[in-house]
Amino acid sequence: MTRRFCARCGKRSERLIGALCRECYLEHEVSVELPKRLRGYVCRECKAVLKQGRWERSGSPEEAVEEAGFAAVSQGLRVRGLSRPEVGIAFIEARRSSPRDYLTKYRLEVKGSAGGERVELSQEVEVRVRLSLCESCQRRASRYYEAVLQIRGHAPLTERERKELSELVRREVEARRGEDRAFISSLEERREGIDFYIGSAKLAKQIASLLVAKYGGTLKTSTKLVGMDESGKSVLRYTYAYRLPRVKRGDVVKLGERVCQVLRLSRGSVSLLDLATRRSFSLPEKQLARAEILAGEEDAIKGMVTEVVRGRVQVLEFKDYKTFYFDIPLPLRVGDEVRLLKIGRSAYLLATHLEE
Ligand SMILES: [Zn+2]
Ligand SMILES: [Zn+2]
Repeated sequence: MTRRFCARCGKRSERLIGALCRECYLEHEVSVELPKRLRGYVCRECKAVLKQGRWERSGSPEEAVEEAGFAAVSQGLRVRGLSRPEVGIAFIEARRSSPRDYLTKYRLEVKGSAGGERVELSQEVEVRVRLSLCESCQRRASRYYEAVLQIRGHAPLTERERKELSELVRREVEARRGEDRAFISSLEERREGIDFYIGSAKLAKQIASLLVAKYGGTLKTSTKLVGMDESGKSVLRYTYAYRLPRVKRGDVVKLGERVCQVLRLSRGSVSLLDLATRRSFSLPEKQLARAEILAGEEDAIKGMVTEVVRGRVQVLEFKDYKTFYFDIPLPLRVGDEVRLLKIGRSAYLLATHLEE
């Protein structure tokens, strides 16, 4: 029988790995290698995390710090001396070590095999995670913009329109927080409308299309060459000039002899409800260019259905507490809330919940 010895420590062993006993092999041949300086990066503004040279969106600030350390460990890690190594990285803790840094700790669990034997190693690592600025936030800080989104009306925008439109634009930008250049660099309130200077031309275009889909109206795009970048590619600046339609949702207009209410506007088309026949129909937006606008949603008076007898509906309005009768073929019920519009001596029942 052949006796076997470890070539390093001389210990007698029947199961050598290469020429070494298990202990010597683990001590001298197996190692978990990590770069000396492990660093993770989190954007202090948008909490994006740097992963393999790219800034990626993350969750809460805590999650971002944890992820940044994790990315640094998993990118730098090399296991030597084991076949089929499996590495588990578990987060232990993160604490603020300076105004700009966190010190994070992870536990590495490495499993693999050497010479047919299962081997498991475990060790703790520390990663410094630095708060910095991602490219997108750097651009924002320098007031960079690729596009101007101009919002205009047919008349100067009302306060209500300004508020609604600004909120919509901000909401859309906020929803993409952490995406490249998704920010408003600046905003100019003008008499005729609002100009938004937006970091990403793609995002500006998406918002402009959303405005058209939601409110109708028109969009004109123009581009201007503003220079060259370092690689000689031309740098363009985009202008998305959006104009609200002349009529808006809820407006009551006169088309010939018909009094109609605007139900919806979308991509150049207007859905209307004839307030006498209660039939709805659509027209191209252009055909309303000269229609008389009788009233807007804000002129409506609230009321309630108080009686329904054979297609005749009695409505009590809540302003002067007068009653009105309408002969309309709608299955309304007593107690239904409705809205009325009084023009001169006529009253109109606006689109009900059954018609909107
Ligand atoms: Zn040995
Ligand atoms: Zn950022």
